[in-house]
Amino acid sequence: MKKIKGNCLCGAVSFEVINTFEKLFLCSCDQCRQITGSAFASNLFVDINGFDWCGGVDKIVKYQVPERDISKSFCQVCGSGVPWINGDATKMIVPAGSLSAPVDVAERVRIFTAEQPLWASDLEQVCAHAAFPD
Ligand SMILES: [Zn+2]
Ligand SMILES: [Zn+2]
Repeated sequence: MKKIKGNCLCGAVSFEVINTFEKLFLCSCDQCRQITGSAFASNLFVDINGFDWCGGVDKIVKYQVPERDISKSFCQVCGSGVPWINGDATKMIVPAGSLSAPVDVAERVRIFTAEQPLWASDLEQVCAHAAFPD
């Protein structure tokens, strides 16, 4: 199967994963908003057997949200979100933005839209620029 590479911004943490994802979850829950500092988290789920670390595992720090099955793994050098293993150790959860090539995903799903902040609604109506505006 075709694999795709991913890494954190500084390159300390790197991995490769099978580029066949069933779903991309765009999660607007309160925890994902705070963990990302943004409107939603973009997470892909893949079977643990289709995932391999290439380097930098010793640079990863994990924060577990108390009493929830939500955690955040990040590079301690640059702070980028990196993949982590789910609660029953069957899937890797891969932040879509950490992948460096086009992602082959069958379906995109938005979840917890009831918790989405107002400033992140109706984005198609927000003035858009291809790069930084003049
Ligand atoms: Zn890094
Ligand atoms: Zn969430």
